[in-house]
Amino acid sequence: MVPMRRALRLVIDGKAEIVEADPGRVVRSERLSFPRPAVIRLMKFIHVPRRFRRQVTNTFLFARDRYRCLFCGRHQGLLRERECLTRDHLVPLSRGGTNAWTNVVTACSTCNARKGNNLPEEVRMFPLVDPVEPHFVHLAWAVRRLTPQQAKYIRLFYGPEVLAELASI
Ligand SMILES: [Zn+2]
Repeated sequence: MVPMRRALRLVIDGKAEIVEADPGRVVRSERLSFPRPAVIRLMKFIHVPRRFRRQVTNTFLFARDRYRCLFCGRHQGLLRERECLTRDHLVPLSRGGTNAWTNVVTACSTCNARKGNNLPEEVRMFPLVDPVEPHFVHLAWAVRRLTPQQAKYIRLFYGPEVLAELASI
């Protein structure tokens, strides 16, 4: 998921090719005209800037953990009236923990309060899955609308389960 200008730059530089274009829409420069890319394919690995990887917003965090508490396993929809999803730091910030993907998990407010300023092993509260840095593409897709044309490629590369999951968000 990249801005249009960057997508075109990658194509012009020969680093990517257009797989699908928006029908009937072209992008013009002084001398050239290109179909407006909807899906591109990289010809080689392109480094994703760290500033994109570092942003652990709650929107992305909750999406990564599929909107459930990683301690009690309850989905957002099963929380009680005064509960909400929160960010828990496995190693608390007050004890030198960071906001890195591998140190943060989605927790319901009740579990978060129970864990408090403790390490998982001190209160025997371990996340149901080990937190990892997610594939940025998944997250980008998770919070945007897919066109049917783009959905086709998500299905192709990530499987129908991923697509169904993203569609249900
Ligand atoms: Zn919980």
